[in-house]
Amino acid sequence: MRLLIVEDEKRLALSLAKGLTAEGFAVDVVHDGREGLHQAGEGSYDLVILDIMLPGMNGYRVCAALRAAGQDVPILMLTAKDGEYDEAEGLDTGADDYLTKPFSYVVLVARVKALLRRRGSAGASPVHVLGELKVDTAAQQVFRGEDEISLTAKEFAVLEQLVVRAGEVVSKAQILEHVWDFAYDGDPNIVEVYISTLRRKLGASLIRTVRGAGYRLEAR
Ligand code: CA
Repeated sequence: MRLLIVEDEKRLALSLAKGLTAEGFAVDVVHDGREGLHQAGEGSYDLVILDIMLPGMNGYRVCAALRAAGQDVPILMLTAKDGEYDEAEGLDTGADDYLTKPFSYVVLVARVKALLRRRGSAGASPVHVLGELKVDTAAQQVFRGEDEISLTAKEFAVLEQLVVRAGEVVSKAQILEHVWDFAYDGDPNIVEVYISTLRRKLGASLIRTVRGAGYRLEAR
């Protein structure tokens, strides 16, 4: 799951990004409304956290512009306590939820997960069954037969990319893009490291390497 944070308070943005990354999300951060609109408009985000008072373009306008362009990505708006946020106006422009600063980090994470679940349940079921492997993307749990397999947040995120497209080839670049954020400039072969860990934990035959193309989770 890939999130975009549009927030000009750099310390807040950074601490949110850090926390959400630890939860297993890939997180990108921009500090300007116009840049936020551009970035969110690219369409590869599962959720956008959008501050209202922003340089360049305010959050209401960013939100309205995204909806006008047909972007249906869930948007969680952030607002200061002084009442800058007008709920009616916010929901009018197409925001899905809002949170008043200062908020507890735990509450933010709960809201983010609820929005992602809400969107997930409108579409595909969060539970994927592949032979004796069962992956619950909402609860972030993996079972092989009766046994729960313990994965780190990052390992789960890599597996999720393969599971939602089971039977199809998923490239290393696609996995990188969704699981690591755009600030990641390390070795793209890190994906291989995670794939080999998943093979060790889930069974070697489950994830096939498609030479020169990527990986495929066998749908059986
Ligand atoms: Ca602000």
